[in-house]
Amino acid sequence: MLIYNIGHLLQVPGIFQNAFLRVENGKIAEVGLMSQAPAIQDQDIDALGRVVMPGFVDCHTHLAHAGGMNGSFAGRCNAVESISEVDLRQAIEDRLSFMESLGTTTVEIKTGYANSDEAVRKCLAAIPKRLGVVATEMSPLANVTSPRWLLRENVRFVDALCDPEGLNPDQLRAPLRMMHTPIKLHVCVSAPGDGVPLALDLNAVSVEHLLYATQRDVDLLSRSKTIAVLLPAMAFLSKAGRFAPARALLDSGVAVALATDANPGDSPTYSMPFVMQLAIGEMKMTAFEVICAATLNAARAIHEDHRVGSLVPGKDADFLILASKDYRDLPPVQRVFRSGRECLRTCAADASAPASFF
Ligand SMILES: [Zn+2]
Repeated sequence: MLIYNIGHLLQVPGIFQNAFLRVENGKIAEVGLMSQAPAIQDQDIDALGRVVMPGFVDCHTHLAHAGGMNGSFAGRCNAVESISEVDLRQAIEDRLSFMESLGTTTVEIKTGYANSDEAVRKCLAAIPKRLGVVATEMSPLANVTSPRWLLRENVRFVDALCDPEGLNPDQLRAPLRMMHTPIKLHVCVSAPGDGVPLALDLNAVSVEHLLYATQRDVDLLSRSKTIAVLLPAMAFLSKAGRFAPARALLDSGVAVALATDANPGDSPTYSMPFVMQLAIGEMKMTAFEVICAATLNAARAIHEDHRVGSLVPGKDADFLILASKDYRDLPPVQRVFRSGRECLRTCAADASAPASFF
């Protein structure tokens, strides 16, 4: 299948203008300029000069929950205790379907709402075991004084809240040092702290939130390969009164990823486009920086960059056609493709869409 007449093909990090994308057996086979495009067949798709880019990768969510927005953290933990595994899995699947309709084709799901090992086990069992879903186990946030992880077979990463409202570095250092599973950490969530030095000491894949990151943290991260995962929707929706220092991180050369932090407590959104718009408006990132942060860097943050996050030959053909011809407008998603198969045409596909909105 050929997608032709692409105005901006965001290969990430490169950009082609007037380009084509050829898909074969669910993989990207070739990209290039229209002047070198193969012959067009009946089943091929005319992009009408619009933007084509990789599907969004949401690398930080808490979809394994059963509570609504109206309630407490304890209430949400209790809801996970009482829901059946089957119903929890269906709730997660429904959320994944909605996210796909917004252009998100790969999702990381963290546990987090649990009072007991049994509830953590249920959450891990309910997370779908399939392509495009990555499970991360968080040390329980409720009723614990020391970190622990069950490490079921589908756990790809371990994570913990290293914060005054969670666990402190001294509680986390020894157990995490013994881990063979790659490490992520929630750091600088409610106050400055020593989460970043701990994460770098443990060779963590990513540090996440960074709302209260200091210049020392920025300097340390700039000398590491650890990815900064920023969650501006949480900052906005929880009225935190501040955002992570994205500009300082980027200007220091830190790899920045964006994610929704989707959860019913302090970040009730499933929308990567909303997160990207906030990153431009509130954190002064450029359109191209947010696109890289929502695709390739997000894929790197969950070790899925061998498969998705950019449109290079050999990767899965997970891509989007956007509603206008200039990516700098961050136009809405029209059509969503996963492994080369169209899985969704949004309302924007059949309407004359405005130039830019989310
Ligand atoms: Zn989180």
